[in-house]
Amino acid sequence: MEDELYDVVVVGAGFAGLTAARELSRQGLSVRIVEARDRIGGRTWTDHRLGRDLEIGGTWVHWTQPYVWAELKRYGLDTTPSPEPERAYWWAGGSRHEGGPDELMELIGGTNAAFVQDARKYFPVPFSPMSRDDFKAIDHVSVQDRIREQFPAGAPRDILESFWALNFNGPLNNAALTQALRWVALTNGDWAVNFEACATYKIVGGTAALAAAMCGDSGAGVEYGFTVRHISDDGGAVSVHSTDGRTVSARTAVVTVPLHALRAVDFDPPLPRAKNEGISLGQVSRGTKVWIRLRGCRAPFVALGGADWPLNFFQAEYGIDGDTIVVGFGPDASKIDVEDAAAVQHQLARLVPDVDVVAVASHNWAADPLSGETWPMHATGFLSRYLPALQEAHGGVLFAGSDIANGWGGFIDGAIESGMESARQAAAVLVGRRRTHDVTAVQASLR
Ligand SMILES: Cc1cc2nc3c(=O)[nH]c(=O)nc-3n(C[C@H](O)[C@H](O)[C@H](O)COP(=O)(O)OP(=O)(O)OC[C@H]3O[C@@H](n4cnc5c(N)ncnc54)[C@H](O)[C@@H]3O)c2cc1C
Repeated sequence: MEDELYDVVVVGAGFAGLTAARELSRQGLSVRIVEARDRIGGRTWTDHRLGRDLEIGGTWVHWTQPYVWAELKRYGLDTTPSPEPERAYWWAGGSRHEGGPDELMELIGGTNAAFVQDARKYFPVPFSPMSRDDFKAIDHVSVQDRIREQFPAGAPRDILESFWALNFNGPLNNAALTQALRWVALTNGDWAVNFEACATYKIVGGTAALAAAMCGDSGAGVEYGFTVRHISDDGGAVSVHSTDGRTVSARTAVVTVPLHALRAVDFDPPLPRAKNEGISLGQVSRGTKVWIRLRGCRAPFVALGGADWPLNFFQAEYGIDGDTIVVGFGPDASKIDVEDAAAVQHQLARLVPDVDVVAVASHNWAADPLSGETWPMHATGFLSRYLPALQEAHGGVLFAGSDIANGWGGFIDGAIESGMESARQAAAVLVGRRRTHDVTAVQASLR
């Protein structure tokens, strides 16, 4: 049991936690981060695999994402584009097709432009998704139901469904239409810019470079291997207890644990019902991402399979020693063992001719108890029924994370936005729990 009472204990060293810790410790507050893993970064992880550094989790960033873009500028980090595809392969109407990438983009746009046309109508102020009530009338509608109601069966609909299964990294039957519209509202209703934001610009030095810069800037110490099991708040201090018997206490806590992983954490006093229901509902994104090394050098390509395929999207990313490295995604991690090169080869070969998979690399985020989901994507009803409750403080415990962001929820940007917000909330809680004159100054500087 530690004796020190910190001002803030931050649970989780992903981008939300690193942001909150930096914001608060730079104001002179004492901050301790506890993290279950042996590294920072959370669902971002730059790791050396298949002969080079690869992003095992979150990767792409964009200038339409204000929080992460500002961080890149702050630390002098640059971006580099993924290669422009020269060839496209897709599955539609029960058969394989091949053509130019523009042809595939036109096919997606042919239906998608109409599908997302109401994005700004429902989300006129995208970073304040609940600024108007209209979206509540459609929050029960799934992406699948809306697509099937709006477009007849056939090739254009197949392509649209697969595109959104890719975006949700999950099945579409309970994927919220509001989540799809929120995404596209963030790029002013332009789905093509949105797609560019999702899969084009990578951070030079990897996401690890940004996480390290933010962590180094914070000065908050990180206690690794600290898996929080129980959080108690006696009204003056919050104590976080690990599975192996350690405790860290602070006047306030910022909890950045992903929704699915929060199910394993007990709270005293218990969380209110709406929070628990939101945690139980969780996210629909329980898919997979896999890196694939192909024998031989290939021109960059993009490939879109069927919405229910175990792997439904591929994009060539790198050349290495005469081989090609491709990234693949699928909407249901339980449908394929992506550590099995032969299984991955089988899926890729459904679209791309003459492929020879020599090695694969991945991490099963959906099965990982510290994430339980990939990039957070809301189910039907989540936005109207649970997001506001999940964002609320619980006594001296604040919540943050990409799961509950207002803007680019599901992205690194959302994690940073939410981490900033939680820092402001933590300062407010400290007003009541620490000497008032110190904290008023902190609040003023965070405003
Ligand atoms: C495969 C994949 C691809 C993605 N692609 C992109 C992309 O291209 N662009 C993009 O912007 N975003 C992408 N994302 C999403 C992005 O990575 C996340 O939204 C963001 O990193 C989440 O940050 P966070 O701080 O909210 O949560 P996390 O990064 O999950 O951080 C939470 C931290 O809490 C820790 N933790 C969990 N439980 C406990 C516990 N009980 N005790 C202590 N610590 C605990 C975890 O270990 C973790 O470090 C992707 C994510 C995945 C998985």
